[in-house]
Amino acid sequence: MPSTPVARSETGDPLLLTPGPLTTSKTVKESVLHDWGSRDTTFVNINKSVMARLPAIVNGGDEFVTVPMQGSGTFAVEAMLTTFIPHDGKVLLLINGAYGQRAKKICEIAGRSVAVHETPEDTPPDLAAVESILRNDKAITHVFMVHCETTSGILNPVVKIAEIAERHGKSLLVDSMSAFGALPLDMKLSRLDAVAASSNKCIQGLPGLGFVICRKTALERCKGQATTLVLDLHDQWANFVKTGQYRFTPPIHVIVAFHQALEEFDAEGGVAGRGKRYAENCRILIQGMRELGFETLLPDQLQAPIIVTFRMPADKNFVFQTFYDKLKDRGYVIYPGKLTVADSFRIGCIGQLLAHHMRGVLTAIREILDEMNVRSLNGEKAA
Ligand SMILES: *Cc1c(COP(=O)(O)O)cnc(C)c1O
Repeated sequence: MPSTPVARSETGDPLLLTPGPLTTSKTVKESVLHDWGSRDTTFVNINKSVMARLPAIVNGGDEFVTVPMQGSGTFAVEAMLTTFIPHDGKVLLLINGAYGQRAKKICEIAGRSVAVHETPEDTPPDLAAVESILRNDKAITHVFMVHCETTSGILNPVVKIAEIAERHGKSLLVDSMSAFGALPLDMKLSRLDAVAASSNKCIQGLPGLGFVICRKTALERCKGQATTLVLDLHDQWANFVKTGQYRFTPPIHVIVAFHQALEEFDAEGGVAGRGKRYAENCRILIQGMRELGFETLLPDQLQAPIIVTFRMPADKNFVFQTFYDKLKDRGYVIYPGKLTVADSFRIGCIGQLLAHHMRGVLTAIREILDEMNVRSLNGEKAA
């Protein structure tokens, strides 16, 4: 039996120190204990209010519209890429992790031409290289990037890439899934035409809804470009304008919970308040893990306060599955690594997690290392 108290969420569940789905508040979960019809005016109004308040989170005014997309975040990313990039267009994909790779796969399946600028998972895009690709390849119409690449937790330079895209007259599409609501992003950056995110990350809602915040003038040009019926953002939008309704059954409960999550997000002080709590969670986690001897993959200046990648300790007594199971027994669910550059695991800082939860997981980790008889924690470099 663990000697530290077992951690629990407000509803008695293990804490999810994962990048989303994540631990949500009790009030978010309780908000869905009802039935609503999809054409019910109560639901229609809740949906309208959710969609209307999302652009402001990324400083988007009336020139932007939120187009929701049923499904997980990837549905929104695929909808964004295949709606915005025309059949005869070409997109430069900035890749430094699994979500960038996924965008490439989406474009290939949809038959969109791609150019790729790929850097290792611990390295942001090379701005001079991006500049040079855009200067030399006149066929490129769009640039795609991931804001926080959740594979490693790296923060990619959206503002700098937006400036380069602007200079070359390219439209910028951003996957801000794991950063939206926690890290500032400004839609007024002139060539930022679309940003995709979802209900179950930093806004702390339930999983099941993606959305894309679109510059209206850019979306208007997308009629007929999509490769599928369901992922056609233009058609989804046009139908809302005409009828105020989804084309197909919406995840009603997810949207109602998202509304409650947005109320709680505002009460916490929006991006500034939420970002501050996550940054504090991240600081406590990294400091404590380093004190225990763990090494982060990323230097602090590249680390987003969303999820932290730690190198797997070299000590042969450190068996990740045992470590994972023992943490789960103490009420903390962490995340395996997804890196190709190093053996690693990840701990998230987002969701309904407070400073004392982060201190709690550190105490539990210290205890588990003792139980596993792990002594040397220097990462692979020491091996
Ligand atoms: C979570 C996430 C997605 C979407 O993943 P789903 O499993 O489809 O919700 C996309 N991009 C990034 C960067 C993410 O963190």
